[in-house]
Amino acid sequence: MNLALLFDDDFIAPDRVRLTGRRYGHLTTVLKAAIGDRVTVGKANGLIGEGCITHLDHHNAELQVVLDRPPPPPLPLSLVLAMPRPKMLRRVLQTCAALGVKDIWLINAYKVEKSFWQTPWLSEASLQENLTLGLEQARDTWMPTVQIRKLFKPFVEDELPALLAKRPGLVAHPGTETPCPTHSNTPATLCIGPEGGFTHYEVDKLESAGAKPVHLGPRILRVETAVPVLVSRLFDLAGF
Ligand code: SAH
Repeated sequence: MNLALLFDDDFIAPDRVRLTGRRYGHLTTVLKAAIGDRVTVGKANGLIGEGCITHLDHHNAELQVVLDRPPPPPLPLSLVLAMPRPKMLRRVLQTCAALGVKDIWLINAYKVEKSFWQTPWLSEASLQENLTLGLEQARDTWMPTVQIRKLFKPFVEDELPALLAKRPGLVAHPGTETPCPTHSNTPATLCIGPEGGFTHYEVDKLESAGAKPVHLGPRILRVETAVPVLVSRLFDLAGF
């Protein structure tokens, strides 16, 4: 936690917060914080600043906060991700949030196991929890949105074209001809397949919607690795 993300409920006055639970535990056990110490804080969907610890007991920490600077700029990227298995979903959400991805679509694909959609990690609270962990890691405050689309064809036919009109599309697919562009730093929609990959039919449908297939070389990467590799090829993260 390189920033404690603050929500409305944490504020006991306009410039004072009380932290309990995970964030309190992190302050006391990992950071070994004491009264008078300063930590980086940020308001969810708002400014970043500093919190000075004014009170500590066995359950709570109180901080006086000054919020005075904006979070880093978001990536102009929409990530369309075939629903990963639950354990991977959590890591991928955290990674996306840490990298500055703000627009995430979880879609169905032929090789997505039906049981993946039953996971409790898809609840609003769990999505927010994992995204929060990613934001706190990266010192960002702007909460990504996650849209869930359990039917592939209606999504690709009815919704994807509008997304691609604003942010041109790429489909990461091993074995295609074109290497993924580098340093493009322009708005993009990136489609990433499931563990078993997109089927030919699915790649054709994504292509008809306007997305271009690209590859990352002969090594097949796990989704959790493919995401940061693709994002850092497309965007010079030093500028974002
Ligand atoms: N067995 C599958 C690989 C799936 S890897 C297949 O051969 O298609 C999961 C996803 O990560 C892929 O669908 C793709 O979107 C992305 N990916 C992994 N390695 C890649 C590579 N070398 N080139 C392009 N995309 C890759």
